[in-house]
Amino acid sequence: MSAPTLNQFQMQVSELLLRHRSLLDVMSKFGQSGASVNRAVTKAVTDCGCIELNARKQEYSDELNLEGAKETLQSHISGAVCEHCRDVLKSELGRNLFYMTALCNQLDIKLDDVIAEEYKKCSTLGLFNLT
Ligand SMILES: [Zn+2]
Repeated sequence: MSAPTLNQFQMQVSELLLRHRSLLDVMSKFGQSGASVNRAVTKAVTDCGCIELNARKQEYSDELNLEGAKETLQSHISGAVCEHCRDVLKSELGRNLFYMTALCNQLDIKLDDVIAEEYKKCSTLGLFNLT
């Protein structure tokens, strides 16, 4: 099976009748599933330990160019997500995407348009669209 398009995914979510659920319910699920994504990342650090977080202040400068920024800015992650944590993270991200899509359905917004417009914005703003 080839990868589904965003449209196909959006139609599938719509067929699961979420359109008829309360908007408040979907909003709440969307928020909860976003929190679960962060929780899964946290557990990768504190329960599994496959990644470590070593956060410190970022050293920005005003004349930072693309190459300089790539060298200077840090994700503060060391290690790599293991297979188990990757599966959990993908599953939580999928649930979050599901409810984001359900919200789009209820508000008559096309996921395709959301991505296309964000893509355009990112192309225009480039590197400094980081915040
Ligand atoms: Zn892990």
